[in-house]
Amino acid sequence: MFRLMGADLPDVPRLLREEGLDALEYEAVRWGPKPQITQEHAEKLGAAAKINDVRLSLHGSYYINLSGKREVVEASKRRLIASATAAEWMGAYVMVFHTGFYGRFEKDFAFKACLEALKEVSAEIRRLGLKVKLGPETMGRNFQVGTLDEIITFNEEVEGTQLVVDWAHMHAIHHGALKNVEDFRSIAEKIEQRLGTETMKGMHCHFSKIEFNLQGERSHHPLTEARYGPDFRMLAEVIADLQMHPTMICESPLLDVDARKMKETLEQVLESKQSKSLN
Ligand SMILES: [Zn+2]
Repeated sequence: MFRLMGADLPDVPRLLREEGLDALEYEAVRWGPKPQITQEHAEKLGAAAKINDVRLSLHGSYYINLSGKREVVEASKRRLIASATAAEWMGAYVMVFHTGFYGRFEKDFAFKACLEALKEVSAEIRRLGLKVKLGPETMGRNFQVGTLDEIITFNEEVEGTQLVVDWAHMHAIHHGALKNVEDFRSIAEKIEQRLGTETMKGMHCHFSKIEFNLQGERSHHPLTEARYGPDFRMLAEVIADLQMHPTMICESPLLDVDARKMKETLEQVLESKQSKSLN
């Protein structure tokens, strides 16, 4: 969005900070086996983020399938390593990505293939001395690996992971399941039970409104579109109640405009709870 407006990438953290925002997910979603940003440019972005106290994450290539044919898995691993290398250059704390597809396999077989490949990527990342965390994301379509249970298991079994929850995807894959505050709260509590309080509180989140069909996600929508869910205010209630400190990335088509709305909503919820507790 900023690039469309003509801003240079290293200026983006300052522009976000001026809008009152403090996180940026760099989109490396069309990358192949090599970083599509120079080390110098990535380091400039990282330095600007640091000065403006903006937390960086990186969204890795969409062309990943860790449960595909052998050549596909090997190419996917190279793409993940390329993304992780660039993430390290810019000081991104997590590399978010989609793990794979069930394809013609049994779901459990595809999941286990992803798990094994992820362990190998994790080992390679440590061998290269990269500190960025691996962030497999909860997915929105029924043919994609990445249910909440699967993502939790990746976090339990693979070293150097960060929990990434896309709430819109979870709403879509369960056909509009996030209808009230309790629906959000029960997800946070399930995560807490399996991964502990700190992981739950510090989850990396994607949020937007979402349109879905029987297979799940169709498209992301702005927060103002009343006919679509989920409602960010409900998540904000849970964030406040459980004293969470998530990194929240807005994936609506209105990126920073909606991100600001989300921030304002959370601040309102926090304030109203605080004033209630004082009465
Ligand atoms: Zn994603």
